Parts: sequence; structure tokens; C-alpha cells
Amino acid sequence: MTPRATLAKTVPMSTATLTIDLNAIVANWRALARLARVETAAVVKADAYGLDAAKVGNRLATAGARQFFVAVAEEGIALRRALGAGPRISVFSGHMAGDAEKIAGAGLVPMINSVDQMLRHVEALPGHPFGLQLNTGMNRLGLDPAEWSELHDIALAQNPTLIMSHLACSDAPDHPMNAQQRKTFDEMTQGIDVPRSLAATGGTLLGRDYHYDMVRPGVGLYGGLPFVDAHPVLTLDIPVIQVRTVPVGETVGYANSWTAQRPSRIATICAGYADGLIRAMGPKATLTHEDKKVPVVGRVSMDLITVDVTDLETDPATLQLIGMHQSVDTVAAFAGTIGYEILTGLGNRYARIWRD
Ligand SMILES: *Cc1c(COP(=O)(O)O)cnc(C)c1O
Repeated sequence: MTPRATLAKTVPMSTATLTIDLNAIVANWRALARLARVETAAVVKADAYGLDAAKVGNRLATAGARQFFVAVAEEGIALRRALGAGPRISVFSGHMAGDAEKIAGAGLVPMINSVDQMLRHVEALPGHPFGLQLNTGMNRLGLDPAEWSELHDIALAQNPTLIMSHLACSDAPDHPMNAQQRKTFDEMTQGIDVPRSLAATGGTLLGRDYHYDMVRPGVGLYGGLPFVDAHPVLTLDIPVIQVRTVPVGETVGYANSWTAQRPSRIATICAGYADGLIRAMGPKATLTHEDKKVPVVGRVSMDLITVDVTDLETDPATLQLIGMHQSVDTVAAFAGTIGYEILTGLGNRYARIWRD
């Protein structure tokens, strides 16, 4: 445990406390692996969705994960430093200009996305492992069918580690795009004896037809939708700075957007949009105290949020935004966004505690 985490446990913090349950992440990884019954990699891009790729990666490696995915080579270098030799670290953005030394130095596996990347890779690092990413309809990354037929023989002659593609609509099980992409993936990889992967979290939940040889969940590990049965990973407890009585007719916060309709107890808590609690969530958001919900009133500001605690019996010392009673996705819904965006946006002002 870091000194900072020890401090946060024993001394009340003025900043909010974000607790990350590493055992829940492991339990989620195991649950997805049990569903898939094939190699289950872990996607730890964007610093493990904001939860610390080194800590998450190490814990999952100890639990048996052997393959990790990051977005860019720089993340791969940091992860390699944390994990040491052994686990495979693959890079979704492939082999970008200037990446050769990073890829070679950290032993990364680029997922080649274009003919240009393929040429760059074989020129700079002949014999160095690589995978291939195919475009099956999302039109974001990967080789198009025409490029793929051009490259197919040369690429396969060099034993790629993996052939992968990505689903655009896997969080909607009934969307016809899922079957369409699967069909395209089958056609593009027919008769090829290389491990294949199509599924992220959503695809893992779509069932056996989508698992191929490897699944690569990200958000499900961190307790987010579409993995509805995930173990909750996060709690976010925010200290109350002060509580005041606001008389009927007075307003709270910027732009006077809320007016007291009854004599109200208003708690001002120590977090705001600079901490990733985005301003758009304001009017719909609630926090919890024990098992009671209390509403946000007025605008979310940079460092502060005001909450109507009139209905609580006593003034609270802290309020909880994420935890047992409200998930990351609940909070995302307040703001009209997705759990991924809330997770990756959680700021660096929190006292973070990794529970293990
Ligand atoms: C981010 C990403 C994943 C993981 O997606 P989740 O929805 O978080 O499980 C898998 N594959 C690719 C290509 C990605 O970009």
C-alpha cells in the first residue's frame, strides 16, 4: 500500500476519495473468461480506463492474464515497465511513424492497420511480431477487404500473432450489424490458421459465435455496461465542506438556477467538473447517504457541488456519488453520456485507494 493510501485511510481527506477494488476487477475478468472459455485478454488502454494500468495490469497478470491491449505505443512502454517480460502487450494503433524503437525496446506487438503500416513494420523491424486488424464495417481502424487481399499472402507468410476486428454495435445484441460484421470477418479470414479475435466486452456477451480464439474485454473488467452482472469496482465518497439553511425564495449556485421552495439544508461538497463530474449531470444527479438519495441542486461548478440534504436526519460528513447505490453508468446517465467517459474522465485530484 502506498503511503498516500495509508494517509487517506486514517486522516479525513479534504479531497474526495476514489476507492478501486482490484479484487472486483479480477472477479470480472474471471467471470468474462468463464463465459468465453477462450483466451481472455485485458484491455488496459487509457491507464486502464483511468484506474491505473500498472496496478490493474499487475493484479490481472497475477490472476493469470497473459495478454494485454493498449491504444498507443507509449502506453505499452509504461505497461511493460510495470509488468516486466512475459505478458504479451499488443497495440491497437499499430505501427505508427516513429514507433519502431518503442515497439522493439518494450517488446510490443503492433496490430497492423494499413498497407503503409505493414511496409513500415517490415522495413524497420523485420521478424518482429505483429498482428493484423481488419475493417469489417466500423470504418475506424484496420485493413479494408481490398487492401487485405493485396497483403494477405505476404502478411500470413510472416506468422502474425493475431487477426482481429472490432464490432460497432455489440452493446445492442439484436443489432443486425453484429451478424453482418461476423460474416465479413469469417469471409476475410476463411481458411486462415491464425488466432482470431472479434469481441470486446459487448461481443463476449453476445455468445460463442463471437468468441473465436480470444476475447478482449475492457469496460466490463471495470464494472461498466454492457456487462450488467459485473461486480462493482468503484466507490467515490465526497466530503461535505459546509451545510447551510437556505430560506424559501433564495437561490443556490451560478445563474440562480435553483430556488428553495421550502426552508432547505444545502450541503456544499468538495468536487466538481474539474474532477470529471461533468457539468451536464447537474439537474438530474443524485448522491447517496447511507441508503438515502439526495438531489444535486443548482449548477455543478469547478470544485464544488451543492446538494439538498433537507431530508436527512443529520448533516452528513460525506456524500457518495458512485458505489453500492449508484454505478458509474447511473452517473453517466445523469449527464447523458456513457460509463466509459465518466471512468476515463475522473480527475487526478482524488485520493485514490486501491483495495486488494
Ligand atoms: C477499447 C477496445 C476494446 C475494449 O472495449 P470494451 O467495450 O471496453 O470492452 C476492445 N477492442 C478494441 C479494438 C478497442 O478499441
